[in-house]
Amino acid sequence: MKGDIKMFVSKNLSVNEKGDLTIGGLDTVELAGKYGTPLYIMDEDLIREHCRSFKQSIDKYYGGKGLVCYASKAFCCKEMCRVMMDEGIGLDVVSEGELYTALSVGFPMDKICFHGNNKTDEELLLAVENNVGRIIVDNIFELERLNDISKKKGIKANIMFRIKPGVDAHTHDFVKTGQIDSKFGFALETGEAFEAVKKAVSLENVNLVGLHCHIGSQIFDIDPFVLASEIMINFISDIKTKLGHKIKELDLGGGFGIKYTEDDTPVPYDRYMEKVSVKVKELCAEKDIELPFILIEPGRSIAAPAGITLYTVGGVKHIPNIRTYVSVDGGMCDNPRYALYKSKYDAVVANKASKPKDTVVTIAGKCCESGDLIGECMPLQEAVPGDIIAVLATGAYNYSMSSNYNRLCKPAVVFVKNGESRVAVKRETLEDIIRNDE
Ligand SMILES: *Cc1c(COP(=O)(O)O)cnc(C)c1O
Repeated sequence: MKGDIKMFVSKNLSVNEKGDLTIGGLDTVELAGKYGTPLYIMDEDLIREHCRSFKQSIDKYYGGKGLVCYASKAFCCKEMCRVMMDEGIGLDVVSEGELYTALSVGFPMDKICFHGNNKTDEELLLAVENNVGRIIVDNIFELERLNDISKKKGIKANIMFRIKPGVDAHTHDFVKTGQIDSKFGFALETGEAFEAVKKAVSLENVNLVGLHCHIGSQIFDIDPFVLASEIMINFISDIKTKLGHKIKELDLGGGFGIKYTEDDTPVPYDRYMEKVSVKVKELCAEKDIELPFILIEPGRSIAAPAGITLYTVGGVKHIPNIRTYVSVDGGMCDNPRYALYKSKYDAVVANKASKPKDTVVTIAGKCCESGDLIGECMPLQEAVPGDIIAVLATGAYNYSMSSNYNRLCKPAVVFVKNGESRVAVKRETLEDIIRNDE
């Protein structure tokens, strides 16, 4: 295992001659020294590679008739929006904050999909005023409010409907959203979705261009995606037959699984487009409908493998016959996913990366919660105070879910590219912590 590249879950990680962990070729121990800890590091080259592979899969299997929209909730900041813009891919946003971030870097609004199950009037107005490409309408109240807002502005907003196709995505209950008992979208089985389509077609200031579904997250199976596309095409065909309305776009959401630990076995992402396009083409031919423009919305799979988090070890507590706690200078405030979902991560002592992992530990954060853990039963090199621990594949849903619990400052985010590093998000300061206090 010594220095074996296969011991890491992401391919951009390696070990240098000093025995230090590297990301994108840069020494993580030096990065920790230069920027401080806790620290998020994102490998921009790998982010771009993921964007291109999704894009190429649409080119290869679907004649380029589609758009990859990065789900920005996975990791959003101005620099990430700039990278997406540069790669020519679109952006999913779920709030005015995410939309504002995109606006602030001049992101092309026609490539934005605006999601969310409870958009406020202010958010709808911001989207309408900026001609956001597609607003994904979640419920009938939103449809009516959006029609009113568009009317006042004298425009016709392009919308999609979020549909619950009722597909079980074989994933963690908390992130399963395709089934009928979900707060997101219109149900197909009950006829709710069809009624909404009927209504939308009758309204003057919305233009129903497409349907959307998102069946879950961290999914390793291709079958649920294929099944969802089948259900959606059938619905598109139904709408054409019964209402004479042509649905031009089909947004199949995101949810592609990534490798957090050796137990995870993601399929290559182009297999997904390969299988889905076969099904979509076959059904469209059978039902005599035009091939829809396809959108996919990968979030985690673009950002997660590109990121790591670096911490400094403060103390180590051996509790005989129970466990060993290794305490680090961050925790649930920068990575709440273990506390929320018991999500598993791999960790490495960055300054001992070529040594064997011969201890099994619990990595604990510094927040005042017993549940503030990065993980339990984690194989790790023997850690002592002052060591740097790298937690791997933290590029998605870590920074974006971080908080100021215990009034901790949020870490900086550093991007690495072509062997160079730069700050993309500054570390918060104590002044930031009190900035809104009167
Ligand atoms: C969360 C979400 C995504 C992205 O999911 P990942 O698992 O990160 O790929 C895409 N679309 C919608 C509507 C979402 O809510």
